[in-house]
Amino acid sequence: MAITGGTRLAAVIGQPVRHSLSPGLFNAAFVEAGLDWVFLAFDIAPADLPGFTAAARTLEIEGFSVTMPHKEAILSLVDDVSPSAAALSAANCICNDAGVLRAFNTDGDGFVDGVAHDLNFDMRDGRIAILGAGGAARSVVEASARRGAAEIVVVNRSPEAAERAVALGGEVARVGGLSDIAKADLVVNATPLGMVGELAAEMPCDPSLFQPEQLVVDLVYAPRQTPWLAAAQANGAKTTNGLAMLAFQAVAQFNLWTGLDAPVETMLGAVQQPE
Ligand code: NAP
Repeated sequence: MAITGGTRLAAVIGQPVRHSLSPGLFNAAFVEAGLDWVFLAFDIAPADLPGFTAAARTLEIEGFSVTMPHKEAILSLVDDVSPSAAALSAANCICNDAGVLRAFNTDGDGFVDGVAHDLNFDMRDGRIAILGAGGAARSVVEASARRGAAEIVVVNRSPEAAERAVALGGEVARVGGLSDIAKADLVVNATPLGMVGELAAEMPCDPSLFQPEQLVVDLVYAPRQTPWLAAAQANGAKTTNGLAMLAFQAVAQFNLWTGLDAPVETMLGAVQQPE
């Protein structure tokens, strides 16, 4: 699509950011939707975040995605913070609403929509067990509770972090242990265990704990299939990786920025590129 005088700009900011899948994802979506928009990645150091935010207002950037290390610091630089972003003390999406910058967090909704898409899992009345209690787990707890989960159990190495994550889930959330895994409808790995690199061979729990037909999702997507996910499948579990969460958190951002329905299949296709 040709750049014109009317082309609108959206972006992702982070550091590092050059590896980001977001430009491919959003530019494919803008083309599919026939929008005269373009999406760029900006490598922004923490000290430059206020300057970037001021520039976003001046340049009328329509919206920007926020990734590490800015997800918390951006909150004090915007005009309005959504309830989810406030609860999580983190935003991944900023909308520029005619000069008013609004912060959102779409990660957790991306998770809920992703498991609905990939595993046909309806969060309402679902029982989920989450391994890990960091940023990803916290967004999963908050969105799963908000969208009707019946039970959320957080299993984590450090109990203090588990308690902090559970506090986001209200009455349906509690700290648990490995004995809770087999009782859950959906088991989620929200630790980095299994990721490419030094943790590649590690597993977040013993996969023999899985029941046949149990649903298992690994938020890790590099590699596409972790050893844990492969072992869960071998035990008869139905599995998926973190790519749907990645695509659906972007779908929610597209909707917020443009006010239009996102081209979901195009965005899912864009994240399925070979590793
Ligand atoms: P984080 O904030 O650093 O949290 C990591 C969590 O994993 C912590 O609860 C930590 O436990 C636990 N952990 C780390 N190393 C461990 C080990 N050796 N043994 C046991 N537990 C360990 O990370 P995050 O941002 O939540 O990300 C977690 C994973 O989710 C990463 O692989 C990331 O790529 C993935 N992710 C995917 C998406 C997606 O869209 N698919 C989005 C966000 C994140 P302690 O509390 O005890 O330290």
